[in-house]
This record gives sequence, C-alpha cells and structure tokens, in this order.
Amino acid sequence: MPEGDTVHRTARLLDRSLSGRLLTGTDFRVPQLATTDLSGSTVTATVSRGKHLLTRIDGTDGSWTLHTHLKMEGAWRVHAPGERWRRPTHQARVVLETADKVAVGFSLGIVELLPRDREGEAVGHLGPDLLGPDWDEDEALRRLLEHPDRPIGEALRDQTRLAGIGNMYQAELCFTSGVHPGTPVGEVPDLTRLVRRAKQMLELNKERAVQSTTGDLRERMWVYRRDNRPCRRCGTPVQVQMVGPAGRERASYWCPSCQPAR
Ligand SMILES: [Zn+2]
Repeated sequence: MPEGDTVHRTARLLDRSLSGRLLTGTDFRVPQLATTDLSGSTVTATVSRGKHLLTRIDGTDGSWTLHTHLKMEGAWRVHAPGERWRRPTHQARVVLETADKVAVGFSLGIVELLPRDREGEAVGHLGPDLLGPDWDEDEALRRLLEHPDRPIGEALRDQTRLAGIGNMYQAELCFTSGVHPGTPVGEVPDLTRLVRRAKQMLELNKERAVQSTTGDLRERMWVYRRDNRPCRRCGTPVQVQMVGPAGRERASYWCPSCQPAR
C-alpha cells in the first residue's frame, strides 16, 4: 500500500509533467465522470496532502480540483504519446493528455472532481501532513493523545491523527522506538520522539525509488513483512498478527524481544 512518501513523489511527478500545460485530451473511466471532458483546460499544480493527490485544473467553465487516492494498488504513470502503458489498459481510471505527455492513473481508489473552493472537503479531515508545508508536531501529538487507550500501531495509521503513515511505516516506527504496536498511545514512553522519527523516515524516503527504513538497500526493513525471520537486532523470530476492526484488519509485525508487550 503506497504511503505518504510515495504519494508525495507521485505529486512531484505529476506536477513536473503537467503543470502549466494545456490538456489536449481527458478520459475519466469512472461512471460518475464518464461524460466529463476537460480538454482545453490548463493544469496549474499537483500537490499531495497525506495520501491524497490534488490536481488543480483551470478550465473555461471554472477552476477544478481532481482528487485521487492510490488506496491499495493505485499508481500514476507518465508516458510519452504513443508509448506503451506500463500497466493493463483496463486498470486505467483517468487519462490526462498534453502535447508531450500522457498521465494515466491506474486502479485509483478515489477519483472525484471538485470545484476548487470545495477542495477542502477532500482533505479537511486529515491531521497534520508529515510531508506537508504546514506540518505541526504539537497538533499531531494532541490528536494522537485524544484517545490515550488506543493501540499506537492503529493510531499511527489513522490519517485524522497525522497524515502519511501506512502499515509499513507503522511497523517500522514501533520497532525503532522499541514499542509493541499494541501499546496504548498514552503509555508510549516518548511519543514526541516517535513522531519526530516518523517525519524523518518519510523525509529520508520521499526522494527514493526504493524505500528503506534501515538505511540499507538490500535489507531494507526491520520487521515489516519479515514474519518468522530473525530480528535484525536480536535474532528472535519476528511475529505477525492481524489486528484492527473487522473488515479493515492489517498485519502487524513486531519483535517480541525488542518490543515486549507492556
Ligand atoms: Zn529483536
């Protein structure tokens, strides 16, 4: 699942490729926008907010924001005109064409077009964005501590507390902080330090094509998806368990020695 740093990189790619360009063709392959045509409009910017992408488009009939979200399998790819797409055509949800680029959003979890002045509806619920220009550590801590009994692993993934962390960074942050993911937020020994580490981890990875939390590009992760393999610090087999509310369970990974349950 793409995390905040991947979405940030995607926003930069779209911004570089499309901003200031006239759309020569658009194709929205979702039922609610099937008849929408924005050709003749100009793309002004693409920004990320947490894991959401906002592409701003100025048309003759007003200013729009195309709101997209990668969810589990989504990706935006930019091709040259006529170039073969890197994912199957039937997965395309949005196609934005300019004179020299074709941006294709594949398997997007959200595709909606909002009048610009309603852009806030798409992202207003988000907590402070770890990679955003308005990052606010105190506000993120305040929001996390609103529910002190909640397991830290779950709270870190809640985008209304702070935005940008998915299942991978959650697991890696709990490990590097020596905290079992089931620990109540209010009992995490140094929550400020954990949140600072979160920002640092995303900042370090936002320019990288391949993510690493260990600093090593071959052994890239401490515990994420390493169940039953030896902990890189102590050798104890890494544990995995499904946690979270029914229907939205996620695999939680931890080292029982480095991250003892409290
Ligand atoms: Zn360990």
